[in-house]
Amino acid sequence: MTKRVLVKFSGEALAGTEGYGIDTKILDYIANEIKSLVEFGIEVAIVIGGGNIIRGVTAAADGVIKRTSADYMGMLGTVINGVAMQEALEYKGLSARLQTAIKMEEIAEPFIVRKAMRHFEKGRVVIFGAGTGNPYFTTDTGATLRATEIGADLLIKATKVNGVYDKDPMKFTDAIKLNTLTYDRALEDHIKVMDDTAIALAKDNKLPIAVTNMNEEGNLLRIVKGDYSRCSIVK
Ligand code: UDP
Repeated sequence: MTKRVLVKFSGEALAGTEGYGIDTKILDYIANEIKSLVEFGIEVAIVIGGGNIIRGVTAAADGVIKRTSADYMGMLGTVINGVAMQEALEYKGLSARLQTAIKMEEIAEPFIVRKAMRHFEKGRVVIFGAGTGNPYFTTDTGATLRATEIGADLLIKATKVNGVYDKDPMKFTDAIKLNTLTYDRALEDHIKVMDDTAIALAKDNKLPIAVTNMNEEGNLLRIVKGDYSRCSIVK
């Protein structure tokens, strides 16, 4: 029985057709999907990436900006997305709190696990911003870390695809969807569920990961209800 979940969205998901920035229609759609979970009685945490604003590796590619600085810029991008998500949830009548791994108390609460737990008790959605707070990590790793810290039963990676395939479904017509796969299989090069650090952390802590298509309405709710037909589970 799923009680507490952490849902990870990529920053790009917020960008819509523009490919950059924040599309409020998408934000509103996500807030609705999250609302269905809360109304079902689930405690919900959210991590959003920052790829729609800046990615450290890309920003540092030509050497003008140092990688560590570029990564901090990326982390700030996730906070921008977090503020937006918080607004969208409240617009839908939910109560939400943004907590950040890097202190910026005029904007958000600092990350305090006990405080996060208290928010869940009160039915609030908690958004974790600024990733892990450290350069050279990703928000997938941040999501896995936070999911473990709050004792989430499940990490849902909400993506553009409806699961994990044995090979790239865009390139191969005979690609087969894997309903379940082991952490070790998820580490194989051609199956990129999450980066290796995130998968290793999930494996160590036996945190199951569901990969699903966020654009199919109701997928998040289906998963927490135990219907895994529209996702792949890494466990
Ligand atoms: N980032 C970081 N440490 C973290 C999480 C994120 O340095 O713990 C930076 C990194 O530069 C990354 C950027 O923030 O490229 C945005 O996060 P990510 O690429 O994971 O976002 P997504 O691909 O999910 O949109």
